[in-house]
Amino acid sequence: MLKISGVPSNKDIDQVFPSQERLEKGPVVIVECFETIPCNPCYTACHVGGIQAFKDITDLPTIDFEKCNGCTMCISSCPGLAIMVIDYSYHKDYVKMMIPYEFYPLPKEGEWIKGLDRRGAEVVKVKVLSVKNTKYQDKTQVITIAVPKAHYKKIRNIEAGDSNAKS
Ligand code: SF4
Ligand code: SF4
Repeated sequence: MLKISGVPSNKDIDQVFPSQERLEKGPVVIVECFETIPCNPCYTACHVGGIQAFKDITDLPTIDFEKCNGCTMCISSCPGLAIMVIDYSYHKDYVKMMIPYEFYPLPKEGEWIKGLDRRGAEVVKVKVLSVKNTKYQDKTQVITIAVPKAHYKKIRNIEAGDSNAKS
């Protein structure tokens, strides 16, 4: 499915997620990088060994979930927008997700907007917690959203600018 549509299957997604035990410990990186292309800025962005050294520049990234502290520094480094950070421990009913975003308008803190799946279809409304947009991110903003736990694994993007969206 991935090679034909470009959309990873649930099995593909499960393979890049850490264990439930690790998720419950706190923020952790999720890297949905499935193409063997010559690319490694995710590795150079991480200073704690969360993304392990590449043997070859075309290797897929290998994550050490125990070393990753969920700092989010690698998110904006990825040209494929393949990286996000998830904090499953954030709230009993909500997961906090930090995702890359390169569209305008930017969402606003506090608003409820559409949470989209990997095909771009709306799944559920999500709340914008923060928008990080510094010059060091080179126009790849990091949006922090609160997502209902029942849906978090399906959410991969957002649609900002929808003033009718409510919780
Ligand atoms: S979130 Fe931080 S610690 Fe984890 S892999 Fe990315 S840069 Fe490394
Ligand atoms: S920077 Fe992004 S696209 Fe490049 S290897 Fe890392 S995760 Fe994959």
